[in-house]
Amino acid sequence: MVGSKEKSKEKSKEKSKEKRDKRLQEISLLRTIPYSDHQRWWTSETVAVVTGANRGIGFEMVRQLAGHGLTVILTSRDENVGVEAAKVLQEGGFNVDFHRLDILDSSSIQEFCNWVKEKYGSIDVLINNAGVNYNIGTENSVEYSHMVISTNYYGTKNIIRAMIPLMRHASQGARIVNVTSRLGRLKGRHSKLENEAVRAKLIDVDSLTEEIVDKTVSEFLKQVEEGTWESGGWPHSFTDYSVSKMAVNAYTRVLAKELSERPEGEKIYANCFCPGWVKTAMTGYAGNISAEDGADTGVWLALLPDQAITGKFFAERREINF
Ligand code: NDP
Repeated sequence: MVGSKEKSKEKSKEKSKEKRDKRLQEISLLRTIPYSDHQRWWTSETVAVVTGANRGIGFEMVRQLAGHGLTVILTSRDENVGVEAAKVLQEGGFNVDFHRLDILDSSSIQEFCNWVKEKYGSIDVLINNAGVNYNIGTENSVEYSHMVISTNYYGTKNIIRAMIPLMRHASQGARIVNVTSRLGRLKGRHSKLENEAVRAKLIDVDSLTEEIVDKTVSEFLKQVEEGTWESGGWPHSFTDYSVSKMAVNAYTRVLAKELSERPEGEKIYANCFCPGWVKTAMTGYAGNISAEDGADTGVWLALLPDQAITGKFFAERREINF
């Protein structure tokens, strides 16, 4: 009995791998098709900002966006590392600028915004890529869960709030792309969330508010502090990380709803995507795809020619369920 269960698990794993490989092949073909003149809404004056871009997926998104001809601001919380990363791209002929940005530090956010305003006036694309994960598997701790929620959720929210006034008013709309994860999914066989009440609150986009998302993460952190989180129905593996990405997914929908009320010509579209399991420092380079492939959907989303799409979740250039 156990043997047959194992066999069918193996089979379904193989099938998923085949499907993923096929889709990645399709995407690498799509990447060879250049954007036509009428699709290219951007010029070299178009400015994109990528957070946490000194390495991994963020660095790759900077490289690809600059490769498409945008001006890209590579940001990093460590000045020296960021300058070096930007230099690699500048020496390759890419139009890449650098500024320090720590999304956990409100004075760093303020300083960055002042610099952007002075040097560029406004930006067209904000990619929220900076993120952390410390626990492996089923580990969880008060210290790390606070760090992970503060960085991945509150840090992302804070930089978005600070940058919205700097987003260009243009007919094609400005774009916010949040890097999240399928680990934060609410529905489907991959969802690790067992808490039905939390699921019901986060899934109903009509009644969803920022306050509900804040309260959800506060409740999670409280249960971690009290040592009761294990019976709380939260995901059991990569717990704090999954909750943080679940929160950013939900926040993306709230934000998109709020931004959709802006008048024509001032629109900002907000979406999120999962890069897949990527060979970066975060996974100990144990992922199954390269940073180049992981960055693809984020770049594609940022450059969508007819961007009426907002409040959606993507992976491998396709919409997926939250
Ligand atoms: P890396 O660890 O290589 O990159 C994370 C980046 O975020 C680093 O540049 C890091 O800076 C930066 N960062 C962390 N905290 C802050 C902060 N407070 N302020 C500014 N920057 C910060 O991992 P990945 O490239 O894999 O991760 C990129 C994004 O993709 C993350 O949001 C991650 O959650 C997400 N993701 C990754 C997956 C994967 O399989 N790799 C899967 C799903 C999602 P520093 O170098 O200084 O630490």
